[in-house]
Amino acid sequence: MPQRITNLEEAVNALDAGARRTFDRLFEFTVGEARVLAPKAMEDWIAKAFAYLAPTREEILSAIRRQKIVHVVNRITGQGTLFNAIRALRPIEAKSADDVQKEIRDAGARCPICGRSRCSFCNVEQLTPENDFPGGRIGKKTCANVAAYDAWHGLVIFEDHSPLHFRTDAFTVAEVADLLATSRAWAEKVYAADPDARYFFLMWNCLWKAAASIIHGHAQMTVARKFHYAKVERLRRDALDYRKAHKTNYFDDLVRVHDALGLAVRWGAVTALAHLVPVKEKELVLVADRFDSPDLAPAVHRALKVYARLGVESYNMAVYMPPLGKADPVWESFPVLVHFVDRGSPGAKTADVGAMELYTSSVVSSDPFDVAAALRRMGK
Ligand SMILES: [Zn+2]
Repeated sequence: MPQRITNLEEAVNALDAGARRTFDRLFEFTVGEARVLAPKAMEDWIAKAFAYLAPTREEILSAIRRQKIVHVVNRITGQGTLFNAIRALRPIEAKSADDVQKEIRDAGARCPICGRSRCSFCNVEQLTPENDFPGGRIGKKTCANVAAYDAWHGLVIFEDHSPLHFRTDAFTVAEVADLLATSRAWAEKVYAADPDARYFFLMWNCLWKAAASIIHGHAQMTVARKFHYAKVERLRRDALDYRKAHKTNYFDDLVRVHDALGLAVRWGAVTALAHLVPVKEKELVLVADRFDSPDLAPAVHRALKVYARLGVESYNMAVYMPPLGKADPVWESFPVLVHFVDRGSPGAKTADVGAMELYTSSVVSSDPFDVAAALRRMGK
């Protein structure tokens, strides 16, 4: 039987002594059951709305009656996730996939008079602002954000208008390599213009569910001044405390535990983790030793191919890394971490995060063991 997050206890009990010690240092978890007592009048609705759960009415009703909940917490970082698989396809009002494609096409439609695309990102040089450093842009690919998050904020605008380009066979490793190189060149320009701006952050919000306000595919870059963004700095300190307490590297142990549970895959020098405490659905984390690793672009490309195969349309990518400039001893052994998270159907009206995610533990329906199986299916 395939491993499930609901059987985490068995998986942990099966670890060898060394891996078990590392797991216990990093994680704790509880397994509970939500008992849901539906009145007779609800049963027809439940049987229909949750038909994906089981073949028979009685099995569906029984699955709703007793719902297994697994709560996993990373003891070092405080990240936490509540898993309940039955939430996966719970009834949510949604637009159809055709509506989403039409919305993307409409945003890039050409003006019948001048013939130019209405999309500002299809007209980078004419309709986007520049950053305030020599040259203002990297090639014709970057621009400044018209409403900046931070003192240094830029965008890499993709050649292809459709943000769903990553789901097509035309999407290449070379495009990812170009994104990584362009964003890094942008950050180096910023650092040359402002030596306090060392803390580079690269992100990619794909479609409105992931907070993109412009449909045309683009990634974003910021460089923090004086200190890193709060969550990156928090992780650095947590990893440092861990090293002091246990005389071992936190990130190596994180990979070791995922590996021992069957949640890690090696893609050259990059390790892909199906995260045991995902921030939200289907979270993947790539762990690389450096940003310019030749294996990083192929791994990012593969991760997005995995997402395409899993039916993901809207997602966030977020890259953590040590600061720009010469090696800083307080960041020693902090790797490059590339996070991907599925933000749900672009057609869904509800937000995928609520008070639970913002203030407690994330509520997640996707199973990391399923995500790991998808990673393995991509091959080496
Ligand atoms: Zn466009």
